[in-house]
Amino acid sequence: MAFMCATGKHRRPGRVKRTTAQAAGIAALTTTGVIGTLAAGPASAAENPVEQTGLTPVITVSDDVAAQIDEQAAAQKQAADQKAAEEAAARAAAERAAKERAAKARAAREAERKRLNAFVIPITGSYVSTGYQASSSLWSSGSHTGIDFHAASGTSVHAVGSGTVVSTGWGGAYGNQIVIRMADGMYTQYGHLSSIGVSVGQKVVPGQQIGLSGATGNVTGPHLHFEARTTPEYGSDVDPVAYLRKHGVNV
Ligand SMILES: [Zn+2]
Repeated sequence: MAFMCATGKHRRPGRVKRTTAQAAGIAALTTTGVIGTLAAGPASAAENPVEQTGLTPVITVSDDVAAQIDEQAAAQKQAADQKAAEEAAARAAAERAAKERAAKARAAREAERKRLNAFVIPITGSYVSTGYQASSSLWSSGSHTGIDFHAASGTSVHAVGSGTVVSTGWGGAYGNQIVIRMADGMYTQYGHLSSIGVSVGQKVVPGQQIGLSGATGNVTGPHLHFEARTTPEYGSDVDPVAYLRKHGVNV
């Protein structure tokens, strides 16, 4: 034969063929992908130099090696496919997590919006002891400009909704009072307080304690006088029960 098989075995030509001017020192891919040197075997280049035949030897890479290369290519493709699939799955998971975070943030914003728009009764668990426009010699107008909530002295008084404090201090017949401009543009007033806990310009949220009930001003006993108004001033009162009910408060 005019060619030497690098492995020393004669096999039918494989699909991959390589030619080289030197029989010895053929570089071929091993199973691990490392470039190795195939031994020339007993019929080494030294014993059978190329010059002896005058032919360029054709080195046939065996089917085993070709199969190994194919396997390696297939394994590499499989690894690449798996990596791509894993990356796609990671992207999908990240997108799902981002969507969940966004949904949670939306829900939190919505809950906060609802909380800030909600209205509460100014004295928790109390009731209206004197109605709106009830007549009494106690009031200079002759008619009650607000409603009275039953409350012992020192009971926590809450802002009925979100707003900004526009006035605090002595209000004559109202005693110590607080007036709040509500988020809807209306005003609420809290009178006869024993203690004022907020200052002008302060923002308040529904249910926030703004002071303590008392018996300051023109009263016969402790209670909370509460008004709903269209302006901060006395005389612009509207039905406070209707106002609170409009905002979902059960009074
Ligand atoms: Zn009153």
